[in-house]
This record gives sequence, structure tokens and C-alpha cells, in this order.
Amino acid sequence: MEIEPAEEVKEPPRIHRLDESVVNRIAAGEVIQLPVSAVKELVENSLDASSTSISVLVKDGGLKLIQVSDDGHGIRYEDLPILCERHTTSKLSKYEDLQSIKSMGFRGEALASMTYVGHVTVTTITRGQLHGYRVSYRDGVMENEPKACAAVKGTQIVIENLFYNMVARRKTLQNSADDYTKIVDLLSRFAIHHIDVSFSCRKHGAARADVHSVATPSRLNAIRSVYGLSVAQNLIKIEASDNDPSSSVFEMDGFISNSNYVAKKTTMVLFINDRLVECTALKRALEVVYVATLPKASKPFIYMSITLPPEHVDVNVHPTKREVSLLNQEVIVEKIQSVVESVLRNSNESRTFQEQTVEATPSVPSVTNNDLHLSPSPSGSKSQRVPVNKIVRTDSSDPAGRMHAYLYKNPQKYLGRDSSLTTVRSSVRQRRNLKETADLTSIQELINDIDRKCNSGLLDIVRQSTYIGMADDVFALLQHNTHLYLANVVNLSKELMYQQVLRRFAHFNAIQLSEPAPLQELIMLALKEEDSDLESNENDDLKKKIAEMNTQLLNQKSEMLEEYFCIFIDSDGNLSRLPILLDQYIPDMDRVPEFVLCLGNDVEWEEEKNCFQSLAAALGNFYAMHPPMLPNPSGKGLEFYRKRKHGKHTQDGGNSCHVADGTAEEDEFEHELLSEAETAWAQREWSIQHVLFPSMRLFLKPPNSMASNGTFVRVASLEKLYKIFERC
Ligand code: ADP
Ligand code: MG
Repeated sequence: MEIEPAEEVKEPPRIHRLDESVVNRIAAGEVIQLPVSAVKELVENSLDASSTSISVLVKDGGLKLIQVSDDGHGIRYEDLPILCERHTTSKLSKYEDLQSIKSMGFRGEALASMTYVGHVTVTTITRGQLHGYRVSYRDGVMENEPKACAAVKGTQIVIENLFYNMVARRKTLQNSADDYTKIVDLLSRFAIHHIDVSFSCRKHGAARADVHSVATPSRLNAIRSVYGLSVAQNLIKIEASDNDPSSSVFEMDGFISNSNYVAKKTTMVLFINDRLVECTALKRALEVVYVATLPKASKPFIYMSITLPPEHVDVNVHPTKREVSLLNQEVIVEKIQSVVESVLRNSNESRTFQEQTVEATPSVPSVTNNDLHLSPSPSGSKSQRVPVNKIVRTDSSDPAGRMHAYLYKNPQKYLGRDSSLTTVRSSVRQRRNLKETADLTSIQELINDIDRKCNSGLLDIVRQSTYIGMADDVFALLQHNTHLYLANVVNLSKELMYQQVLRRFAHFNAIQLSEPAPLQELIMLALKEEDSDLESNENDDLKKKIAEMNTQLLNQKSEMLEEYFCIFIDSDGNLSRLPILLDQYIPDMDRVPEFVLCLGNDVEWEEEKNCFQSLAAALGNFYAMHPPMLPNPSGKGLEFYRKRKHGKHTQDGGNSCHVADGTAEEDEFEHELLSEAETAWAQREWSIQHVLFPSMRLFLKPPNSMASNGTFVRVASLEKLYKIFERC
């Protein structure tokens, strides 16, 4: 029988040992992923060499040239031959040393890697020598004998033509501006941590450096000189520590932005045991605190340095050492999170206090601590006129030069302007309604009520449980220790929103409606809806009358609604703004008519405390995460959309939809409706998981009533559990 040629092809391929240079180049690509990774390794080497001054020069985003010069201890002549071999290092000899390693480097791979993907030249001089040496490397070995040369103290390492032999990598790295930005960002981070070292970073051919820091004893000074005044003046010092070996052992200190700071992106500069690292869990945890605590939807600026016993940190989990793993990471993250939370809360309160001292002029009655409605100071947030990377000292021999002038630009003037503004505002208020501004203790009382009624068992469940998913349209499934709970999302969100209204009272950010909505029409809509629900049938004239009266009432209250609750009604009786109760969350706008009607009917306008409480409850009900009005298309609700497809009109029990007559159009309409419903439900589920539960963990104080009103149901038996899963 003839052997078919196809069978020959199926022979297993031979395994062979890769050429060492190929192995090395693959490994090099891991360590040096981007130009910025090479800069990081070089700067860390300079720091390890006890340098006090490090300067970086970059050409073409680092692809043409990266030059790092330092004034450290230099490299011995006799070590130069093996300097760039893989696994040669002066920092580690035994594996056990890793447990207590203090230097940045230890793998002995960085320089070697660079020689496999670029041309490396080293110039170095050690103490007491009359001249230095220069030598170039390729693929781990010296290209020539070291040549004697003149040199200044320390080491200079130059990498040219990075990735010259990696075509694909080079191609993907064509945006050199972007690469350079990353390098500037890296140096900025180093500069604010290692404040006893001067850093500079400059583009080849540029007259000015984009980062220029001088050694300073003050961290805040360093931040100011690198990130600018607008950042530095809006920071709060923060510290935390724990020394309980059974939970966690750490010390943390840093600076975090306050509520005046405005940015679209989070800047998180994190050092753990002096290593620049990333920790997504910590970053997320802190972002959540900001989202939930501060009224402005700003992302934070965070500088944090955490120190732990070296044996609690595994530094060897990532080839570029970008990530580290910590013992008891979750406990540490949680502790830091709660410290940040309380510092931010206090800063929110003290801000009112600060303004009070600024505006103390004899002609104006002094403002009490209860005056919660001073808006945040405008100073600072707009004062950054120069982009961060342009805020540099051009002359390093004149450290206090231009920057100095920029820093102390007439602070008196700022204070002056600010104080007159607040003075005017507050005196206007005083004139308008003395009682209203002077006494807002009712809000404090309502907040105290929340604390008093808080159920500690439920609080524990809310804080410690894990969200598993939605069991049906209303109940979420939570796991707490070994128990499973069903939690009523509507009740919980209603309560959380209510509490948020009181906490953010008079300090809301606004949701701007794309088009102002006429109150009268909204109320008419709501009344009609109520009619169809209750099957009552008031005539249209009566409805109109009710709508008119309610509109009138709300117009009268508009000033208060705006000032305290950020509900803006213009002079034509249109609603155009609503408050943000939780950042990243917008309520279901289908519920606006019901809410407006509720404002007119259910709010008790007469007595202050009742008024605030019922208003907060109305807002809470409106913002709660109710099931969307369109039936859930992923469950039985899908029927709703199918039936319509066949042109039969059925009772939907929700808002009515007008179906066009033509079948083609009808199909189209159904399709749109279905996708609208899908979006609404998906969005709600996202908000429940990513906004509601994280915020509840931080802020909700569950009232005692929730223990007995069905908000939490412990799923006791497996049998019940089974039923829930059936429903999912
Ligand atoms: P590692 O930093 O992990 O030891 P590297 O490949 O980065 O490995 O560097 C190898 C060795 O070269 C270091 O251990 C150090 O002794 C020496 N070295 C590198 N850069 C410098 C520098 N700027 N100054 C002094 N010594 C340096
Ligand atoms: Mg190194």
C-alpha cells in the first residue's frame, strides 16, 4: 500500500533548543516593553547607586535616544565586561535576600535586555579615579574594550535605536509624543517621592526641561514644582497605620485632593516600600470614596507612600516589577479607604469653616457653622494657567527663579476677591430671609435620626457582603459569611438616596435637562397616568385646575428648591435642573411627572423639618432604582414585545405606547422598543452593581425598620435557594 503524502506532514515537529540570542531577545521584549520601561529601569539603577541628581534626555519618544545621567557611585572598571550579561547584579546573591531587598533592582536583567533591543553605551567613573571609562554593548557583551575618557561623577547610560531589530514593536510605537508624555509622567512621579533627589527630563533640542525638581525637604513643595500650584494648593495630608500582626502591619502617608480640585482623570502616584507600583484595587477603592463623598464629579489626585515589613511584600510577581503583592492586601485597602473617607468628610465640613474666617468683616453678621449653603470656594480650581509640563524652572542654578514668582502670585488678591464674593452672597441671603439661613439645625437633626435608627446587624451585612447578582426584578442576591440574603434593591436605593439628599444638602451638582420641561404638562401627564392606574376619572378641567395650582405652589417655592435641593424651576414654570445624589447615576426620567406631582401633593411645606424630610423622601423615591417601566425583555416580559409584533393590542400595565398601523412600521417600532428596554434594564443592572452596592457599603445606614419589612430576607433552606436559581 502506498503511503499518502498527507501522512508525512502529520509527523510531529522536532523540538530544538532556541538559540540563546533569540531567547534573550524574547525575554528582553518582556522587560522593556516601551521606551518608558527602559527609562524606568535606568532611573531606578541611578537611585540604587545613591544618586542625588538624575537627568534624562529623550529623542523621538525614546526610540532614537534615551540618555540617563546620574551622580551616583559609578561602576567598577573590572565589572564592565559582565555588566550587561543577563543575571548579573550587585544587589542580590542568595534567593533569601529577596525577602529583605531594599534596592529597586535585583534581577540583573534590565541592562542586558536593553542591549538585545538597542545599542547601549555606558560612561562611568568611580570615586577617587582620575578618568572614567566608556564602552558599548550589543547582545549582552562588550563591543570593544572600555576606553579611558574624561567623565563627571557618576554614570551616564545611552540607549540608541531602541527596538531596531523588532519591526512590529517599532511600528506600533510611532506616536513619539505619546511615549514622551509617558516618560514625563514617570519622572514626575519619581520626583515627588524621592524628594532628596533632583530630577530633570528634557526633550532633545528643547531649551527647557519638562520636569525639573530640586531636592527639598517638603513633599508639598516637590508636588508644587512638578504638578503645579493648582494641584498643590488643593491637597490634604493623610496618614494611616496599623500594627496588629493578626490583621495588618503598615504605615501610610500621602496627600489627596480636596473638593476644590478638578480633573477628568485620576492621578494615583503610589509607592510601596519606595517602589513605584500600581494597585488597581486600592485605586478603585479610593475612586469610589471620591465619587460618593464629594459633590463635584472630579477624579482625585493621590500621592501615597506605603511602608510594610519587606517580608510582607512579594516584589517578584511581575517582570517589570510594576505590580507587587501584599500580605493582607484587602485589609490594608479597606483601612486606607476608610481613613480617606473620613478625611474627605471632615474637609468638606472645615471648608465651610475656612470660608467663614475669610469673610469675617464687621458689617456682616458672622455666619454660623450651620450655614451649610456656602458654595465651595472658587479660588484655585481655575488658577492653573500653565500646563503641568510647562511649569518648569529653566535655570537649575536659580532654583527659586521663575517658579517662585509663579507660586506666590499675590495670594492676598485671591483672598480679597474671594472674601468679597462670599460676603456679598451671604449678605444677600441674610436680607432675603434671615430665619431660613440662620437655622438649619433641622437637617442636622434628620441626619442624627438616621444614625440613631441605624441597625448594626444590617450595617454589617451591607458593609461586608458580596453582591452575587439580581435574583429577580427587585431582589438582589447577597452573600454574607455563610448566609445568602435577598435584598430589596428598590427599598435600599430609596433609603440611600434619601440619606444622600440630607448629606449633600445645599451642595449638589446638577443634572441639566436637555430641554426644560413645563411643570404643568408634567403634572397633567402624571394625573392621567394615575387615572389609568386607579380607574378613576376626574375630568380634564379638574386635572387642569390641579396642575395649575401645583405649578403655582412650586413656582413660589422655587428659590428654596434651587438653593437647597438643586431643583431649578425657571420663571416660565419649566423644570430644567435636578440634583446629582450619587455621581455616575441619573434617575429614570420616565418618573419625572410622578415626582413633580409628588412635590405638589406630598411635601409638607409648612414646617421646616417636615418639609426637608418629605422633600428628601420624594427625591429618594424618584431616584430609587425601580424596575424600568418597560417590562424586562429577558424574562417573561419578552411576551410584551412579541404580542405587539402580531399587531394585537394588549394591556401592558405600564406606560402606554402608541403603535403605528402599518405592519412594517410596527415591526420597526417593536424592535426599537425592545432595544430601548434592553438598554434600560442593562443600565439599571450595571448601576445596581457598580454604583448602588459600592456606595451603600460606604454610606448607607440601614434603619431598624429594614430588619422586619422584608428588605432583607435570609435564604434559609437549600430548597428556597433552588427556587431562586430557577427564577434567574
Ligand atoms: P539590577 O538593577 O537588577 O541589578 P541591572 O541590569 O539594572 O540589574 O544592572 C546591573 C548592575 O549594574 C546593577 O546591579 C549595578 O551594580 C550596575 N549599575 C547599573 N546602572 C548603574 C548606575 N547608574 N550606577 C551604578 N551602577 C549601576
Ligand atoms: Mg536595575
